[in-house]
Amino acid sequence: MRVERVCLNGATVALEIAGGRIARIEPVPGPADWQALPLPVDPHLHLDKTFLWPRARPAAPGLFPAIEARWADRAGWTPEDIRARAGRAMAEAAGAGTRALRSHVDWVEPAVPLAWAVLGEMAADAPVTLQRAPLVSIDLLGDPDQGPPIAAHVAATGDGVLGAFLYRHAGYPELLARVFRLATEHGLRLDFHVDAGLEPEAQGLDELIRLSARHGMAGRVLCGHACALSVRPEAEVARVLDAMARAEVALCVLPATNLWLQDGTPGRTPRLRGLAPLHEARAAGVSVMIGADNVADPFYPFGSYDPLETLRLASTAAHLDPADWLDAITTAPARALGLEPSVIETGAPADLLLVAGADWQDALRGPARRRVLRAGVETPAQESVPA
Ligand SMILES: [Zn+2]
Repeated sequence: MRVERVCLNGATVALEIAGGRIARIEPVPGPADWQALPLPVDPHLHLDKTFLWPRARPAAPGLFPAIEARWADRAGWTPEDIRARAGRAMAEAAGAGTRALRSHVDWVEPAVPLAWAVLGEMAADAPVTLQRAPLVSIDLLGDPDQGPPIAAHVAATGDGVLGAFLYRHAGYPELLARVFRLATEHGLRLDFHVDAGLEPEAQGLDELIRLSARHGMAGRVLCGHACALSVRPEAEVARVLDAMARAEVALCVLPATNLWLQDGTPGRTPRLRGLAPLHEARAAGVSVMIGADNVADPFYPFGSYDPLETLRLASTAAHLDPADWLDAITTAPARALGLEPSVIETGAPADLLLVAGADWQDALRGPARRRVLRAGVETPAQESVPA
C-alpha cells in the first residue's frame, strides 16, 4: 500500500506500507492531502458512567449535582447495562482511531464496584487497549482501615494504577500521604482528579507534587483538572508548575468537562472557564495531555470518543496550534499510561491516523475525514456508533 501526499513533520511525503510496517518514507512535491499522526491515546475517560444521559440529569449546574445524579442512577447499573454503554464507547473510540485509553471507575464504597469487574472482563477482547484507574474519594482511600484493601485489590486485579478524587478535603495532606504509601507499597502509578473547582485555596496539587518528589514517583503520577490553577495568582502558579516539572508530575486538561461544569449559574453567562494553564505548564517543562473525560453523562451531556474532537475543542478553548500539540493526544498520554509511544518512521509499525486536510487547521475545521491503519491494515472509520 502507498499513501500519497502526507504531511509529516512539515514536509510532504509518500508512505509505503508493507508487512504491517512503514517500509519507506519518500519526499514528494506539492502540498499535502493528509495529515498524519500515530494512533491517539486518551488518558482520561469514564466508561462506567458514559451514556447515562438522558436517563441521569443533574438538578443544577456544577460538579456536585452531577455527582448526585450519577449516584441516584446506581440502581440501573447491571453488568448488561455497563457492558452496553462501555462497549458502545470503546467501539466509537476504536472507530476514531484510538489506540489505548484509561477509564476511571467510580469506587464510592469500600466494596469493589461492579463496573471494576465488568470493565476488567471487557478489556480482554476490547477493540482498544483499556486501562482502568479506580476513582476513590481521598477520604476512603486515605482511611487507614478502608484504603489498604482497596489498594490490594487494585494491585491484584487492576492495570497498575491507583486513583483518587481530591478537592478541598479536610485533612488531605495526611490522607494523601497514606495514598502515596499504598501506591509505593504496591508499585502502582497514581492518577488524580484534583482541585476541580475555582477556589484559589484548592491546593491539593501542591501537596501531591511534594509527595511525588518525596516518594520518587517521577513520571508515574498524572493529575487531571487542576482547574484552581486558573484562578490562583500568577507567581504562585509559576512556582507550582516549576515544582511539577521537576517532580515529573504530568498534567491532563479536560476541556469539555471543565467548560461545562465550571462557573455554571442558570441564566448567567460563565466568565471563568476552568482550564489549567496548559501553555505555561508545557513551557515550564510539564508533560501536558488532553482527554475527553465525560461523554454523554451527568457531568457532560455532549462529547465523543474522538481524540481529534478533543484536540479541536482544546484548540478553541486554549488557543492551541493543533500541529504543535499533537503530542498531547499521542506520545504524552502513551507515556503517562506506561505504554511505548508510537512514532512514524521507517521500520515502525504502520499504526497511523490520516486526516484529510492541507494543514491541521484545515483537517480540524469540521468533522474530520480520516483513514485508520492498524498494523498496515486499513480499518473502516466509524464516526459514531448507535446505541
Ligand atoms: Zn474525570
